[in-house]
Amino acid sequence: MKQPMIYLDNSATTPTDPRVVEQMLPYFYDLPGNAASRTHAYGWQAEEAVSKARQQVAGLLGVDKSEIVFTSGATEAVNLAIKGVYDTYQRKGKHLITVKTEHKAVLDSCQWLEERGAEVTYLEVDEQGRIDLKELENAIREDTILVAVMWANNETGVIQDVATIGEICNRREVFFFCDGTQAVGKIPVDPVAMGVHLLAFSAHKMYGPKGVGALYVRRKNPPVKLTAQLAGGGHERGRRSGTLNVPGIVGFGAAAALAQTEMMAEIERLSSWRDQLEIKLLESLERVKVNGSQEMRLPQITNLCFEYADAEDVMRTFNQVLAVSSGSACTSASLDPSHVLKAMGLSSDQAHASLRLSFGRFNQEEDVDRVTAAIVSGVNSVRADSPLWRQ
Ligand SMILES: *Cc1c(COP(=O)(O)O)cnc(C)c1O
Repeated sequence: MKQPMIYLDNSATTPTDPRVVEQMLPYFYDLPGNAASRTHAYGWQAEEAVSKARQQVAGLLGVDKSEIVFTSGATEAVNLAIKGVYDTYQRKGKHLITVKTEHKAVLDSCQWLEERGAEVTYLEVDEQGRIDLKELENAIREDTILVAVMWANNETGVIQDVATIGEICNRREVFFFCDGTQAVGKIPVDPVAMGVHLLAFSAHKMYGPKGVGALYVRRKNPPVKLTAQLAGGGHERGRRSGTLNVPGIVGFGAAAALAQTEMMAEIERLSSWRDQLEIKLLESLERVKVNGSQEMRLPQITNLCFEYADAEDVMRTFNQVLAVSSGSACTSASLDPSHVLKAMGLSSDQAHASLRLSFGRFNQEEDVDRVTAAIVSGVNSVRADSPLWRQ
């Protein structure tokens, strides 16, 4: 019997949990109301459902529900945070600090502002993928208004020292925006304890539906003001206009509630499979290297460089049985080597020979052996064809 394909690209997107879909379904047909309609029960029911979901999402982070702004995803939340803070505070200063390994949503938002008068410092990372905290401290100027550093990287899973970054930003009185898209729902994320002022995240990276995300915006100590980036009906307390995606938001809330109860067990399960896979691949193949810190890393992801085995060629050998990726889905349309791996000091060839393997809630233990077999035979056959291998 043909076995189903193994999905090992959960960092690009996760399947929606069936229990989440179940809770969304009524809001497509039986309860079709607009959450902003105040004149009938359909509207009130939709508003109630959104309010419950907002509480569930806020609950996962331990924040107040008035601090959650629903968006169409993390990309929009990132744009709202960076451009929204800049628009409000640019009279105070026009300098931003970010990191070379950030997601394109962050880098392109910063570049967009640069073209309009902002000054941006792009911090380097070491070969572990981590920033130097002294360098961050030294980069802060009188006119710095925002530091944007992600919680965990989408290609390598490498986690930054968020607590210390938060401490530095609060002491120096600059806002700390964190792209938490890969971390929220996967590991404990407490923006208040970490001194994070704004946090972006997305439902489809945590077993919720695609097309819905959120921005946490701190309301006190200190309050953060934002200039809305979408003009319209003044939804979300004037911070994000547009009719709310009620079924999506309900699903986001359900996904957040599930993450809260299942996170700890999931961390153990997925990290054990990830570690087994890594050990087996390192045992079975020569010239394999883990990209980035193995200590400060998300539990479910690994990024491996198989020298002399181009990742596109390797993936072609198993594309009927195994779904993985090289680099991130967001930039995989381009043939450029990963900007994240390059920033960590890999050569273009090494970056092109790297695969990202990310487990999720619906993988099974048996997947580890099948994935190992597929990758080992793929790498061996690509290397056998390479004139550079064995020279
Ligand atoms: C996926 C991702 C995004 C973009 O999220 P969308 O909801 O797909 O717009 C932003 N940042 C990181 C780190 C991501 O992994």
